[in-house]
Amino acid sequence: MAGEPQADCLFCKIVAGEVPATVVRETETIVAFRDINPQAPTHVLVIPKAHYPDVATLAAAEPQLAADVLREAGEVAHEDKVHGAGYRIVFNTGSGAGQTVFHAHAHLLGGRGLEWPPG
Ligand code: IMP
Repeated sequence: MAGEPQADCLFCKIVAGEVPATVVRETETIVAFRDINPQAPTHVLVIPKAHYPDVATLAAAEPQLAADVLREAGEVAHEDKVHGAGYRIVFNTGSGAGQTVFHAHAHLLGGRGLEWPPG
């Protein structure tokens, strides 16, 4: 069923507490934790607790939950004090765009200058 935990999903295991993570924020609907391979001084992943394979699927099925992810990414940017200098929220969508974990997640990147266009 849409949104149900998937046994083979790493991020579902983080939601369940079966895989450890450095959690920086948690609400009823999302968890935010530090990326294990940070690409910037602040690199936090914000994920819905419900399982959707990518952000487009999430937004189509549960637009309010997609909004929760975006709002909480902004909250983490404030908490990590990167909002003033600017930050980036990225959703890699599909393997060709670099998505490696197929549980929707926002990358919040900040704390250094960010190039545009991204690679
Ligand atoms: P993607 O490539 O956009 O799918 O992003 C997946 C992200 O998950 C990558 O930036 C990885 O470094 C990160 N990652 C993979 N495993 C873990 C983990 O166990 N804890 C925290 N981050 C992870």
